[in-house]
Amino acid sequence: MLNLVIFGGPGSGKGTQSAKIAKKYGLYHISTGDVLRDHIARRTDIGKVAHSYISQGMLIPDKLMIKILEDLLKSRTSETKHGVIFDGFPRTLPQARELDALLEVLETKISVVIGLEVPDAELTQRMLLRGKESGREDDNEKAIKTRLAVYHKQTEPLEAYYKETGRYVAINGEGSIDEIFDKICAAIDAAK
Ligand code: ATP
Ligand code: MG
Repeated sequence: MLNLVIFGGPGSGKGTQSAKIAKKYGLYHISTGDVLRDHIARRTDIGKVAHSYISQGMLIPDKLMIKILEDLLKSRTSETKHGVIFDGFPRTLPQARELDALLEVLETKISVVIGLEVPDAELTQRMLLRGKESGREDDNEKAIKTRLAVYHKQTEPLEAYYKETGRYVAINGEGSIDEIFDKICAAIDAAK
């Protein structure tokens, strides 16, 4: 099983690269952002809670996020049998520890963590453009500021967590989509 985590600031290209990686390596793509936006669109109870946080640019509470991920993993055992690419999860240390524990129960582990490195100014430009094109409710100036602050405070510490166990590979996330994808594939192939 090949289990990957793609990690990086908001708008760093996690979703775009994950779709390409999932296709090439036959992995199941779990994007927690997409899962939550689907709940919001269907107006479920989870969607109502998620909307109140996402629209502000805040993370949804760990307890709820972990429960959603756990349910998803447990209900998709056939889809995930070749491995998973986790996009947008973990975003906090408790989430990272929980993911390690969940995978251990499934007798597997994270093979590589891909860290997409993009400066804040570039991230802001990308998200403002995406907001105009897609109308994503959290791609506005105020929410973007919060998301970047939350990323540096809560998510960036995961870099050290994964570096300690030697699973972290930094990738320059600036350049063309295909250039970045080639670098990611080289890192995955080296670790396989
Ligand atoms: P991308 O690099 O793909 O553009 P992104 O940061 O713009 O990534 P998503 O990963 O889609 O966006 O996440 C959108 C929002 O969903 C987050 O700002 C947060 O509110 C919520 N969310 C997603 N994943 C998590 C998580 N693991 N824990 C808490 N909240 C989450
Ligand atoms: Mg995304």
